[in-house]
Amino acid sequence: MATKIEKKIVGYEVVKNEEQPPQEEKVTAIAPLLERDDILEGMTYKIKTPVSDHAMYITINDVIINKGQPDEHRRPFEIFINSKNMEHFMWIVALTRVISAIFRKGGDINFLVEELKAVFDPRGGYYKKGGKYMPSIVAEIGEVIQQHLVSIGMMEGQLSTPELEAKRREARKRLGEEAAAKGAQCGKCGAMAVVRLDNCNTCLECGDSKCG
Ligand SMILES: [Zn+2]
Repeated sequence: MATKIEKKIVGYEVVKNEEQPPQEEKVTAIAPLLERDDILEGMTYKIKTPVSDHAMYITINDVIINKGQPDEHRRPFEIFINSKNMEHFMWIVALTRVISAIFRKGGDINFLVEELKAVFDPRGGYYKKGGKYMPSIVAEIGEVIQQHLVSIGMMEGQLSTPELEAKRREARKRLGEEAAAKGAQCGKCGAMAVVRLDNCNTCLECGDSKCG
């Protein structure tokens, strides 16, 4: 609080606040990690990519926050990825541990989906059923997390509609597979999926379209 000094300053002294609580007490109040119950509900998603012979199973377990209260809601607590393909085992374990740690810290996790979905495989991505381009397996893991967040109500959105799938097919037919896969970043959903269709910048991820 600012105080206007009306008189002439003749001396000064630093005010000591004797009643300040010790430092430790303050620290404990910062974002406690979520605690795990003995039994968690979750979902397992199967992804099959053309870049691997074996399917990948992604399990996301949720905790229920404020159980029995009006603001009861779910949020993800941990993620596991299993596959017979052991080629990238070490990196996958590292990724799942980092993602689980972020889940447990609480707060906003939508950024995680955006980061993962922007990862490109330098050997090239692939098309999923329905014509959607995936720039990498990591991006597809990001999409599974997104799908999960949408299903538990933590994120708005719809990943696929017949109109969007038609747009994706149209883009591949007219621009060619390669050009349709190399999109610019979408300002609305963050996906690297904006292509030029009918003189309009169209996002093949969320369907956002701007003409001009
Ligand atoms: Zn978009």
